[in-house]
Amino acid sequence: NIAVAKPPLTIRLCGPRGFCAGVDRAIQIVVLALKAYGAPVYVRHEIVHNRYVVEGLEAKGAVFVEELDEIPEQHRQQPVVFSAHGVPKSVPADATARNLFYLDATCPLVSKVHKQAMRHQRLGRHVVLIGHAGHPEVIGTMGQLPEGTVSLIDTIEDAETYIPEDPDNLGYVTQTTLSVDDTAGVISKLQERFPNLHAPAADSICYATTNRQEAVKQAAPGCDLFIVVGAPNSSNSKRLVEVALKAGAARSMLVQRASEIDWETIGEIRTLGLSAGASAPEVIVNEIIESFRARYDAAVELADTVEENEHFLVNRELRNIELTHE
Ligand code: SF4
Repeated sequence: NIAVAKPPLTIRLCGPRGFCAGVDRAIQIVVLALKAYGAPVYVRHEIVHNRYVVEGLEAKGAVFVEELDEIPEQHRQQPVVFSAHGVPKSVPADATARNLFYLDATCPLVSKVHKQAMRHQRLGRHVVLIGHAGHPEVIGTMGQLPEGTVSLIDTIEDAETYIPEDPDNLGYVTQTTLSVDDTAGVISKLQERFPNLHAPAADSICYATTNRQEAVKQAAPGCDLFIVVGAPNSSNSKRLVEVALKAGAARSMLVQRASEIDWETIGEIRTLGLSAGASAPEVIVNEIIESFRARYDAAVELADTVEENEHFLVNRELRNIELTHE
């Protein structure tokens, strides 16, 4: 029995990666609500875009619904949590009308974008939202303002062809999880066409998106393959896959679980880049490292850029409930 030596592999593990402060807070809110009020706790929309997280919370007694009318009459006294992506203003209004008790897990950095959009409007500007059509955060941000007062710009082509009613009275905000570089391109196109375009008081793309993209950009050159742990509906994770490719990784892909990796197609690799989107838990990163270790003589190299210290407090109602980590 001759042992076959495993091929060598360097894994460049990006930092920062994975959970951001907004996702961490949203998950805590559901866990704390379960402790404080007991099951079921309803959650409108996937609390964060990750199946593993959602299933873990379901096992604890969270029930995920898409709309408030799915909450059965007999459970109206149980709390309903709004996801980290934010909700249109009509949702809390609807919850109040239905006599529901809600806990808003909207990330404070998404709320900040909402406020900036409202500020533009207060100052008489038409709001231009740069973001991806159909994403819950975009639906939530558009829903802060009356219908027809926000225009969505998704692509550079949209920026080239957009025709506003009053080109001198525009203010923009963006989705928090966009590609930093692509968005800069869209903004400069809009600025070139509309020199009086007003910027938000602070950048809309959040620190977590910016930091994860920067770390991937630094680690990607020379990688034969780059894996981003994340879900197919996670905007910030998908952007990381694109950033890796643009920055020089030969191939890049989004993976939800190690079991999804098709080993036949991996081919010969020497350097693997690895990162995780803001909604992807670290256990899955470890699971993926282990699955490579089983097949390669793998050495993990830490590719850290900056240290993150952001932490967001949970809702007031939940602050004195102790969080136990299982
Ligand atoms: Fe908040 Fe950014 Fe995380 Fe979204 S990705 S939840 S905006 S910190």
